[in-house]
Amino acid sequence: MQIEHQCPRCGAPVVLEETDTLFTCSFCKTRLYMKPRDCFRYCFSPADPLLEQVIYVPYWRFRGVHYTCRTSGIANGIVDKTFLAVESKHFPQSLGLRPQALKLHFVQPADNFRFIPPGIPFEKSFVEAKHNVTYETVTVHETRFVRRGTEGDYAEIPITRRELREERLYHEAFIADTMSLIYTPMFVRNGRFHDAILNEPLYDGPPLHESFPYEVFSGSWAVDFMPTLCPECGWDTLAERDSRILLCNTCNSAWGNDRQGLKRISFATAVSTKTAQGSVRQYLPFWRIRVEIEGLKLDCYADLVRLGNLPRVIQPGWEEPPFFFWTPAFKMTPAVYRRMSKQFTIANFSGEFDDRLPDAPIQAINLTAEDAVDSLITIIADLGINKKKVLPLLPDIKITPREALLVFFPVTETDHEYIQPDIKCGLMKNALEKGKNI
Ligand SMILES: [Zn+2]
Ligand SMILES: [Zn+2]
Repeated sequence: MQIEHQCPRCGAPVVLEETDTLFTCSFCKTRLYMKPRDCFRYCFSPADPLLEQVIYVPYWRFRGVHYTCRTSGIANGIVDKTFLAVESKHFPQSLGLRPQALKLHFVQPADNFRFIPPGIPFEKSFVEAKHNVTYETVTVHETRFVRRGTEGDYAEIPITRRELREERLYHEAFIADTMSLIYTPMFVRNGRFHDAILNEPLYDGPPLHESFPYEVFSGSWAVDFMPTLCPECGWDTLAERDSRILLCNTCNSAWGNDRQGLKRISFATAVSTKTAQGSVRQYLPFWRIRVEIEGLKLDCYADLVRLGNLPRVIQPGWEEPPFFFWTPAFKMTPAVYRRMSKQFTIANFSGEFDDRLPDAPIQAINLTAEDAVDSLITIIADLGINKKKVLPLLPDIKITPREALLVFFPVTETDHEYIQPDIKCGLMKNALEKGKNI
């Protein structure tokens, strides 16, 4: 989904990706941090710019990586949906492919448009897999061996049998999810609603009897464009267009954002004992998360060894808390995210930390600590060796975050791969490329 917006400094047109957090103008080199008051509001433009009496109809849009833990296994995919945000028989229930096909722009106070307010609040249940138990009949093919005569001969008799198989959904989670409102323009002509993009009637039913059956108001939302300067020292921070964390090399600090503005984030740089000097030209960011877990005993590393039946002899000290989860702080394909989280969590990095930012480039940090916490139950399901035992526990597991530390790991690289030798974990470069579109 792409958004067109004029640079607030010089007025040049800039095309943004939906995942962008920074507004970068290639003409005047302005870099600004975008912050909506509640959620981003976008709209399509009518085909005829001179059309009067345009009314904008609201749709919720939800996008995120979806993980499910079911009887048949752990799966992941991308959910990308729009839903009509008002009760209505007049408008289509979804925008279909329109958000991918047409450019949008931010709704701005100066637009002075007339909007139908969203009458249905967005709920996660709209996008969740609703049926948590399904049954399917499966045909099982077997071969039965039947003894023939007394010479020890056997006959092979193929049989088929019908079996009822239960598929239960134990857990689902959304990571890196965004929720926004998209307004699509329409107008009334001859008592019928018309789509203002296609300029055709929206439905074939009888014309409207009432004058206009929806409440309409003029919105005055705005996106705040904030400077990307470090709140501590005032120098420009380092960040890519979709970074969720800004880094300041001048005063050695990291900044995340919440509703109030930028807030300090704890970080550390892992000291590698396995990379040769001068071989590191890139760092990858990870979240080290400590949580309190109810419904499953996972307080210390020894608990993980037992949960995963890891081929390790439990060492003294492993029975002591804390236990840390490790997850990537950068987007990549969901399957690779799960694998790396598992490998890093099992590796239980206990090397030294440096409290300074690395002196080589860092992969853009576009997953937050909240995203990391949202993924933990799926990672627990992945770590558990006995799925029959672990999966039924998932619905009752409660996770309370206690501490998040952003850790930068040095990696060495080949043509196609990044390798972290201390963890013994590799990452194909194309998984990072694919992750950029998520
Ligand atoms: Zn500009
Ligand atoms: Zn600074």
